[in-house]
Amino acid sequence: METLTLQRRRDRSVLRRHPWIFSGAVLDVSGDPAPGETVRVQAADGTPLGLGAWSPTSQICCRLWTTDPHEDVDDAFFARVIDRALSLREGILDHGTDSVRLLHGEADGLPGVIVDRYAGVLVGQFLSAGGERHKALLARLLLERTGAASFWERSDTDARRKEGLEPSVGVLLGEEPPARVEIREGGLRYLVDVRGGHKTGFYLDQRPNRADVGLHAAGCEVLNCFSYTGGFALAALRGGAASVTDVDTSADALALAAEHVALNGLDAERYEQIEGDVFRVLREMRDRGRSYDAIVLDPPKFADSAAALERAARGYKDINLLALKLLRPGGRLWTYSCSAHMTPELFRKVAADAAVDAGRHAVLERELRQGADHPVLLTFPESLYLKGLVIRTA
Ligand code: SAH
Repeated sequence: METLTLQRRRDRSVLRRHPWIFSGAVLDVSGDPAPGETVRVQAADGTPLGLGAWSPTSQICCRLWTTDPHEDVDDAFFARVIDRALSLREGILDHGTDSVRLLHGEADGLPGVIVDRYAGVLVGQFLSAGGERHKALLARLLLERTGAASFWERSDTDARRKEGLEPSVGVLLGEEPPARVEIREGGLRYLVDVRGGHKTGFYLDQRPNRADVGLHAAGCEVLNCFSYTGGFALAALRGGAASVTDVDTSADALALAAEHVALNGLDAERYEQIEGDVFRVLREMRDRGRSYDAIVLDPPKFADSAAALERAARGYKDINLLALKLLRPGGRLWTYSCSAHMTPELFRKVAADAAVDAGRHAVLERELRQGADHPVLLTFPESLYLKGLVIRTA
């Protein structure tokens, strides 16, 4: 096995169990390891630190599989890591759903490996050279353990390019999945397009937060911005909302949202859609003096990098300012940011700036985050990416 030696004093993050090694921290790499090959990692003085996957094209040139230098990274290792991840999900599947994130990358000890379970179909994204190298084994271990019928690969995100990997989409193991996989969540049925849907097809990370909106929706006029296929809308309708309006730019997502309303036997009279840009739609509503009891803002990632954060913060502030203006006294705003670069502190500040400019008395009722099947690894704070604020206005 080849050896990666860190520069002096650059071993601290590894000793703190952070799994990323940046190329600038490396003193030397022996031989010429292939992309994804396991390398031994050691400190400048030769102290062994762990084993990781070599990724020569990425700034993060090595992602650690283990910080125990005496562990072998073999089939039994991956089986142990998968079993640990599955045991951490026990209980989630009992709560009215058949769909769950099984592997959440670094936070489960498998950098760059994302696997979601949608009923009998597993969907994987392998976003690191190391994950790519071991994907056939990971798919086999997961199908064996879950009894799922298909493993579908959706490795078609930009993150692959940084790792020097081409997009890869198709059946990795098992049967061809159906065009739409029907799943259950919170007493509702959803159709997941694992081929063309966002990410792996559905936003499993918002599961507990959809339930939260459902709990507070009774009698409310609800505005669901960035609705995608209507996840929050269904929860609100089921929770007894007086009306729900979905807003999204994607006609395909809205079409599936309308199907979801029918599939669940919910009252189509109480449901409407606006196909359009949320920034523009909210402004028009403000100009017309429209108001709501409950508003959900779940935008896509505005900040892809630390450099893009300032611009992103302006975008978040704009929509939150507009939403606060549309809220009736006593109303609630559920506002989210899924950019890992936006820290919880900064997100609260953006919301405060919005409240100042909206001239509203606004209190932070609760803070939310991604569901527990998207774990936050304490030693990898980057794994906390989805933050939510529940804001009430007087
Ligand atoms: N809340 C959803 C997930 C939202 S994903 C759920 O729980 O399932 C973000 C959505 O925002 C996508 O559907 C995308 O089409 C939409 N979108 C992105 N930019 C937009 C914009 N400027 N205006 C309206 N919708 C937008």
